[in-house]
Amino acid sequence: MTVELICVGTELLLGNTVNTNAAYISEKCAMLGLSMYYQSVVGDNPGRLKDLLLTAMKRSSILILSGGLGPTQDDLTKETAAEVLGKKLVEDKAARQEIEEFMKKRGRVITENNWKQALVPEGSKVLYNQNGTAPGIIMESDQVKMILLPGPPNELIPMFEEQVFPYLYELQPDIICSKMVKLCGIGESSAETKILDLIETQTNPTVAPYAKTGEVHLRITAKASSEKAAYDLIAPVETELQNRFGNLIYTDDPNVTLEDAIYELLKEYNLTVTTAESCTGGLVAGRLINVPGISQFLKEGYVTYSNEAKEKLLNVPSEILKEHGAVSPQTAEAMAVGGAKAAGTDLCIAVTGIAGPDGGTEQKPVGLVYMSCYCKGKLFTEKNQYSGSRSKIREYSVASALTLLRCAIMESVSEVNVCGS
Ligand code: AMP
Ligand code: MG
Repeated sequence: MTVELICVGTELLLGNTVNTNAAYISEKCAMLGLSMYYQSVVGDNPGRLKDLLLTAMKRSSILILSGGLGPTQDDLTKETAAEVLGKKLVEDKAARQEIEEFMKKRGRVITENNWKQALVPEGSKVLYNQNGTAPGIIMESDQVKMILLPGPPNELIPMFEEQVFPYLYELQPDIICSKMVKLCGIGESSAETKILDLIETQTNPTVAPYAKTGEVHLRITAKASSEKAAYDLIAPVETELQNRFGNLIYTDDPNVTLEDAIYELLKEYNLTVTTAESCTGGLVAGRLINVPGISQFLKEGYVTYSNEAKEKLLNVPSEILKEHGAVSPQTAEAMAVGGAKAAGTDLCIAVTGIAGPDGGTEQKPVGLVYMSCYCKGKLFTEKNQYSGSRSKIREYSVASALTLLRCAIMESVSEVNVCGS
């Protein structure tokens, strides 16, 4: 069984709307184990849509269409799909009633073209739309199944989750399960090199690396007749990844973030932390504050962008700033020590760097970022050189700072070697 996606809308072709529906639907189909070999975007043009449908029907057994179900003249997906399958449009009473209720509830005036949305191809399954007036439609013929969905993501996503996903699930005998092994402190190419043999010989399960800012995620995906059977296939591969990456792995749960993992460590070892940030300007603290309950462990967050602030709030000696400059390992270390002391915490993560676009020199180019983590008397200091825009440099700095914080906790408290491994 193969599925094909067709997104309808001139706004997509013009780049006015980002095709987020494609990413969403593709991911869901992959989760379901449905193979998708083709995706296309076509404008609001019935002739070209018809041609595309006729081509798609020849090569795929399920067609998913998004967009063009609205009430206006240019919304022609339903009419065109019905024509291709030789079906008449008939009024669906329940759909008419739902449109009426939806409009009444919002105090909107029903116009004649709204009733166009109550028309459905005869014999089709109507998908209720709780967030809009255009119902979704499933049409089945001997050759093909067509699933028509409204374009607005806030209508499409709930409709897909509640009605289309279960429908596709029933069609698909195998199920797909995956685990997400997340690594920090290693680049994508090094990570991939370490598992090249696994990637090259894979069939079921498969391992796929995804590069995230400052992190690498490895998705292990297995296809089997039951959830248990799928996870049994995943287990030995996950063990192998653990053997190869060890403590660089911070979770295998897709919902756990790096800051969540740090929170768990702080809780486990009962450690308090503070942040002392220059070029990241509070973003490191912001990431930690993503985690509910962090207030128990995060005591202060200093934003010390100017030299005066570094001296005043963190007690960075003016001689260090004068002699080595604000962007130097010495300043990063003084910020870390000073921050921990000022806040009375076990740890302090400090970041200082040149985010650009100006301010770089030959010795200290834009993207040079020093970070240091103080942890119970020890200092872990790192030099990084990033490239890219100001915001990219700051984003990468945050990811590295969190990674360094995690390393510092693990090395000094649980005494395992993570940093620099
Ligand atoms: P339609 O159902 O064609 O009337 O689409 C209505 C609106 O949904 C459009 O104006 C877009 O804002 C949005 N939309 C349509 N298709 C997509 C898509 N593939 N991805 C994201 N948004 C979309
Ligand atoms: Mg449209």
